[in-house]
Amino acid sequence: MWVGTVAAGVIARTMQAVKGLAMSQQQFLEALLQTLGADTVLVGDAVQARYHTDWSGTPPVAPLALVRPRSTEDVSAALRLCHAHRIPVVPQGGLTGLAGGAVPVQASVAISMERMSAIEDISARSAVMTVQAGATLQAVQEAAVQAGLVFGVDLGARGSCQIGGNVATNAGGNGVLQHGMMREQVLGLEVVLADGSVLPMLRPMIKNNTGYDLKQFFIGSEGTLGVITRVLLRLRPQPQAKATALVAMPSFDAALAVLQHMQQRFGNSVAAFELMWDSFVQASVQWQQLQAPFAENHPFLALIDVDGKDEASLRDAVEEALGAAMEGGDVLDAVIAQSHTQAKALWKLREAPAELNNNMHPPINFDVSLPQADIGRFAQAIQAAFDARWPGHFTLFFGHVGDGNLHVSTDGATVNGECEAVEEMLYQVVGEFHGSVSAEHGIGLHKKPYLALSRTPQELAAMRAIKAAWDPLGILNPGKVL
Ligand code: FAD
Repeated sequence: MWVGTVAAGVIARTMQAVKGLAMSQQQFLEALLQTLGADTVLVGDAVQARYHTDWSGTPPVAPLALVRPRSTEDVSAALRLCHAHRIPVVPQGGLTGLAGGAVPVQASVAISMERMSAIEDISARSAVMTVQAGATLQAVQEAAVQAGLVFGVDLGARGSCQIGGNVATNAGGNGVLQHGMMREQVLGLEVVLADGSVLPMLRPMIKNNTGYDLKQFFIGSEGTLGVITRVLLRLRPQPQAKATALVAMPSFDAALAVLQHMQQRFGNSVAAFELMWDSFVQASVQWQQLQAPFAENHPFLALIDVDGKDEASLRDAVEEALGAAMEGGDVLDAVIAQSHTQAKALWKLREAPAELNNNMHPPINFDVSLPQADIGRFAQAIQAAFDARWPGHFTLFFGHVGDGNLHVSTDGATVNGECEAVEEMLYQVVGEFHGSVSAEHGIGLHKKPYLALSRTPQELAAMRAIKAAWDPLGILNPGKVL
């Protein structure tokens, strides 16, 4: 009785913070607070501004409430209530997404997974790890290394993005060449569906041909089909040695020739091939106050990681391979890191995307997939089209070119703020090159108008049917993707 009175007092005080709500919303919030408590449910000004938007620069929206669950049961209880009251739900991970997928919609409940961050179990022998969805990518990587293994996905936002967000966006990053995207790292999932029911799919097996592989539907679903609560991850053997090289090349075709040459020489041990156009390199050096990597500027630089057994002999082998490419004219200059510290310093050049928001006003970011051989011509076509319409525009090209993935960032101020026109122009050229409007960041809000450029009407109809089957009331992340 006494506990009940205290709880009622807390709920009454919490509700005072939100005024002017419809009666149905008030009743919903009271029920949510009663079920999960004021420690888990925040309303009104108690919801900090950082939960109102993500890294994409989408205009902020304050949710009706923020739920910070500590367990799958909390997520389930929250969704049961949202379903019963038809309240939209927006799952939130580390909010580093670049497509606006985690930005709250009006009168929604945002569910932040940040307090479900436990690494629950690691088996070095089976090379698997079970984690809660709110664990950061970096925490997963570090836990894997401690167990003598590695995790196959890496990306610049590693310290903030969460494994649940990585699964929900099917993240890519720097390791795709060797280990594939997030989809290839997921053995099992636990998901809470729109009506609050829990779908357990945590089986530590690579092969399992027992009907539909249900977990695949949730990988890349961007919070529109369910809330991912736990993930069973596959880990990889730790390479005994790694060589990192920064390589200068005269043209895009030369860069592709170098990639092919290195893969022929080292096979699947080529772990990364990140290509940077000169304008990206110059911006990176300036924004991060780095030392210029070479005495003169070159049209293209690639960061190449190769795995092997012994540091010294691997470096020699990489040097020899690059030397041969230099004789053929595909390599202009190269530097090979002599230590882990030097390798990190070389990779810093590729970390410039973390500086985009501070240096472009605002950045208009693209993440497109193209037939690999066409990427150079595509970049030239975009540069020429933008030059003609917005002389003096500032546009950078870089990407995971080994996977056919190009990133383009344009400074909004240099195209007179005509963001939509920039998007339309670029996506039209993507269509002409038979590419995809999103290689890895997802559709979210930003690319929704262009999804039909990469998907047939039949595919879109099938996606809508799946959405309707799992979320018939359409409460999960409404307005995103479809
Ligand atoms: P959020 O931004 O919080 O959410 C993204 C989407 O997932 C939203 O639709 C959200 O609703 C949904 N979601 C989040 N958690 C859950 C959950 N538990 N259950 C269901 N749905 C959920 N991406 C790449 O793929 N490759 C890169 O190389 C890369 N580099 C980046 C570099 C920088 C500097 C930055 C800022 C971003 C980069 N990104 C990259 C984009 C971003 O980091 C990834 O998309 C990442 O996977 C998002 O994870 P998050 O936890 O921040 O998700």
